[in-house]
Amino acid sequence: MHGLVIKSTGSWYQVLADNGQVYDCRIKGKFRIKGIQTTNPVAVGDNVDFELEPNAQTGVIDHLHERKNYIIRKSINLSKQAQIIAANLDQAFLIVTLASPRTSLGFIDRFLVTAEAYDIPTCIIFNKLDLFNEYGLEILAEYKAIYEKIGYPCYEVSALKGTNIEQIKALLKDKTTLFSGHSGVGKSSLINAILPGFSIKTGEVSEWSDKGQHTTTFAEMYQLPFGGQLIDTPGIRELGIVDIEKEELSHFFVEMRERLNQCKFNNCRHINEPGCAVIKAVENGEIELSRYESYLSIYNGNETRG
Ligand code: GDP
Ligand code: ZN
Repeated sequence: MHGLVIKSTGSWYQVLADNGQVYDCRIKGKFRIKGIQTTNPVAVGDNVDFELEPNAQTGVIDHLHERKNYIIRKSINLSKQAQIIAANLDQAFLIVTLASPRTSLGFIDRFLVTAEAYDIPTCIIFNKLDLFNEYGLEILAEYKAIYEKIGYPCYEVSALKGTNIEQIKALLKDKTTLFSGHSGVGKSSLINAILPGFSIKTGEVSEWSDKGQHTTTFAEMYQLPFGGQLIDTPGIRELGIVDIEKEELSHFFVEMRERLNQCKFNNCRHINEPGCAVIKAVENGEIELSRYESYLSIYNGNETRG
């Protein structure tokens, strides 16, 4: 039988079969991504074939269909290994807030680099619009300008008040969308606003896993009643850039990518080289300073928080 993986809990996978039934399945055999070691061979969003076991309740996955794309993060405890978060995504929504708590530009940029690297179109959703006073709205406009200028659509919502939720639903319709955002931004509240009657616990601060500490967090897919699928990533605070070389990094900053062939040296790192088109564009304001700072920070391997 053919089906779609809608939840994974380590060794068991929930598979939505073409007949509309959900089966708990295990895996038979090895499925690998070339060049990367992963802790989980199959992820939410994967298309699989499976055989029903004699009890007709459970199944065994024996074939993984080719993925359109996937998104991974570095495994917390095994730095060489990666965890596949989800596969076959049409788009990602990064939920952010400018107040309680404030999402840093560095966090947004790290996410966008990851999404570019895995070829996943991304929208930025600014939540908690109801909290903004006049000054807050000015900052919001500045943030939006930074990202809209380089081609990332930005939306403003209030999950609490239900503001602009219809607009978000229209974007979700008939697509497979990954929801991401650090804890406290209102991701669960937004999902509840999109799927009324459905209830995901809100107000829970999910555990922050310091490096070295093992936590198990898995994505989960919800079928949208108006068409499409939403993939939630509970507890996953940041997606990791796993297999990007330093030399490639500038390719994943969209506004740098288009200038790379104008640098004097073709191995330019865009740090202090003469004739660097990126630095020139930062100096004359064409490239936002915050974006360039994020580039340097990731290049130098600095972790950003928040
Ligand atoms: P998550 O950790 O991203 O899933 O965030 P939650 O949905 O649990 O929300 C975190 C806190 O923010 C809760 O106290 C929510 O009530 C609050 N919250 C969520 N959305 C909004 C919003 O649009 N406006 C305001 N004022 N608070 C919100
Ligand atoms: Zn350069």
